[in-house]
Amino acid sequence: MSSSNRLYLFGYLAFLSIQYIVGNRPAEKYDFVNDVLTQSRYKRYVLSPNKWPYQTLTWQLRNDHITDADRFIIRHTLHRAFNLWASASSLMFIELPVGHQWKPDITVAFLKGKHGDNLPFDGPEGIVAHAFYPAVGVLHFDADENWTLNRFEGINLYQAAVHEIGHLLGLEHSTDTRAVMFPKNRKFDLEYNLADDDIRAIRKLYPLKVERTRMYGYYRH
Ligand SMILES: [Zn+2]
Ligand SMILES: [Zn+2]
Repeated sequence: MSSSNRLYLFGYLAFLSIQYIVGNRPAEKYDFVNDVLTQSRYKRYVLSPNKWPYQTLTWQLRNDHITDADRFIIRHTLHRAFNLWASASSLMFIELPVGHQWKPDITVAFLKGKHGDNLPFDGPEGIVAHAFYPAVGVLHFDADENWTLNRFEGINLYQAAVHEIGHLLGLEHSTDTRAVMFPKNRKFDLEYNLADDDIRAIRKLYPLKVERTRMYGYYRH
């Protein structure tokens, strides 16, 4: 964690456009959840019907038109975001370099406007990213945004990545305003972290290994 914090030093990010064709069901509905009357006090999260059938997932950042300097910062920011979810679940994430012989489970790309999946981006602000539920494995960021780290201007890349990865893993929007899965872009927040609601949601889909180990131990007796 301490090594990844150094990335904040890089600060402002600027990205160029990339063209990458995909197509499937979107996770993002871009809705804002207002009505919480039917929600229980405890469970605010919503799970999509699908989850990944295995716990180790590979991901890859497309490098079209990303400079080496940007690519370095983006990759490390994505590592931090994936690690946050891994730390709360049984999931593990492995980055595949571009050109690797394996096909990644998850591809990440920065795109502008129409980009082939019927969910065109809308220029600065508005929709900043979208992701698809399991097991599609597609995450797109709007390359027209002013993506930043460690400052209040612009859209925080780390925070957006954490939210979108939640969708990639099978989480829908939560009605808990403290949850990273609450559908609102938060201003840069030094304390940004998974809320209890996010943790309950991800562990519902991918229970902790410790819990399963205990269970196996129980069955052995
Ligand atoms: Zn969302
Ligand atoms: Zn897209």
